[in-house]
Amino acid sequence: KKKLAENMSENSRINLQLNEAVEQLKRLSTIDELSQIPNRRGFDEYIQKYIGLSNKSQQLSILMIDIDGFKLYNDYYGHVAGDRIIRDVAEQIQAYTNPLKSLAARFGGEEFIVATFNLSINEVGQMGEDIRVAVEKLQIPHRSSPVSNVVTISLGLATAEVTQETDIKKLIEQADQMLYLAKQNGRNRLEISTEKYTYL
Ligand code: GH3
Ligand code: MG
Ligand code: MG
Repeated sequence: KKKLAENMSENSRINLQLNEAVEQLKRLSTIDELSQIPNRRGFDEYIQKYIGLSNKSQQLSILMIDIDGFKLYNDYYGHVAGDRIIRDVAEQIQAYTNPLKSLAARFGGEEFIVATFNLSINEVGQMGEDIRVAVEKLQIPHRSSPVSNVVTISLGLATAEVTQETDIKKLIEQADQMLYLAKQNGRNRLEISTEKYTYL
């Protein structure tokens, strides 16, 4: 009888440990190892929950951020130095994004995404510009950069009123198009979509 009780408590102890391991695994799989901010999976999970809870007239904006001439940076300074830049840029993005009003994540490679909740386009535009200037002010030498002699970033911004039907993918695409425009227009700049996105 005593043996049975011992087995039971052993089982529940193991179950508890398994649950903890699963929770830890979940956390780890949503945080980017290098930059220690959420990864794309973490971003997607969070944003889907947010949209699911949203009512109309909530303003959702997406900032896409990409390091300029980063392949050339890696080629010139090496991959390890490149990794440092990704961490530095992530740190600046975090410094300028209020966690109560926004969510910043590493979207992949040298690209970052910021979602902001109920901030005006002017406020988000200012935030993007602040991040751009902050990265430039780090004055990290980039001798092979096509646009500057220090590390810079380009940004694209798009905004929409959220409903439960909001297609976040389309909003991200729109921000991505603005990022592409920023690259075309000379990099180290922010481009803002003036197109009003309408959902169904
Ligand atoms: P652009 O100014 O147009 O953005 O040019 P780019 O060179 O930054 O863009 P491209 O997409 O051609 O290159 C991105 C590079 O980012 C290529 C890849 O080797 C590098 N990269 C992606 N992930 C990592 C990473 O985790 N660490 C390092 N060091 N480099 C990475
Ligand atoms: Mg890129
Ligand atoms: Mg790039």
